[in-house]
Amino acid sequence: MKIIDIITQNKLSLSFEVFPPKTETAFESVKEATEKIAELRPSFISVTYGAGGGTSKYTLDVAKNIKDRFGVPTLAHLTCVASTKETVSEKIREILSAGIENVMALRGDIPEHLQNGDRSKWDYRYAVELVRELKAAEKNLCIGGACYPEIHPESANQKEDIKRLREKVEAGCDFLTTQMFFDNNLLYNFLYKIREAGITVPVIPGIMPITNANQVDRAIKLSGSFMPQRFKSLVDKFGSDPAAMKQAGIAYATDQIIDLYANGITNVHVYSMNKPDVAAKIQANLSDILGK
Ligand code: FAD
Repeated sequence: MKIIDIITQNKLSLSFEVFPPKTETAFESVKEATEKIAELRPSFISVTYGAGGGTSKYTLDVAKNIKDRFGVPTLAHLTCVASTKETVSEKIREILSAGIENVMALRGDIPEHLQNGDRSKWDYRYAVELVRELKAAEKNLCIGGACYPEIHPESANQKEDIKRLREKVEAGCDFLTTQMFFDNNLLYNFLYKIREAGITVPVIPGIMPITNANQVDRAIKLSGSFMPQRFKSLVDKFGSDPAAMKQAGIAYATDQIIDLYANGITNVHVYSMNKPDVAAKIQANLSDILGK
């Protein structure tokens, strides 16, 4: 099933993100974790590509397993930077022959060793190029793109970032998923600005439950997200007690999600990071709201 059809049903829903194993030896444990998340029957599950400690090799295996064994729609991520046209074409062929209907088209982060290289020689520089190739390969694919309520770290300003986002959507994105954020007002301001700029596709907010204090620095470094004082106080108070921090982090994420639903968002994506217990608790906290 296509993500666009799920998120436009006008019914509240929750989806989860998982990442593939880094090595073959980790495959079974990751498979088990992702299957437990699939058993929760979320509206869909996205599988990252080379992010969050995973590798590109297993994205499709994990996505296909979830789709075929549990009937849960999957969204396979694909990145293009530092890839060749041949590799990307091969990946697109694999995605289509695995029967995957949804692809998250991403540029990917630029590897450190290429940061100062001559970018004019690269096969891909921006996600928009991948979006065009995916559309050309199969016009019925449902394509997602990433967006940044707090601006992509490489953008000079928000106006420029939104202009580029609009080009990416016009190239063929059916929906957008946001980078994590910890203050919902940032999302509401962003939505106002992109709608004003003529971007009309559905936007799925991405929520990251912070369940241990070590995650905080990494999350800020990766996303550049603003940490509200309310969130900082929670980490200060409970950060050294793992069980309390987990409970507080889940409660904070739940609170964010309820506020999003209350303000007209219908699907929220949770960066569940292969943690079935965290995914299950968040879903349980929303059981009456979601009717599950
Ligand atoms: P782009 O859309 O290409 O944007 C990157 C930057 O370039 C922005 O500053 C943009 O404004 C600018 N730009 C775009 N087009 C142009 C243009 N034509 N000219 C000049 N500037 C331009 N990474 C992974 O490795 N694997 C994953 O699975 C993964 N999943 C993600 C899922 C989500 C929801 C999000 C938000 C991010 C994810 N990432 C993942 C991280 C992502 O790859 C990085 O944030 C990356 O730095 C940018 O990717 P993008 O697709 O947004 O790039």
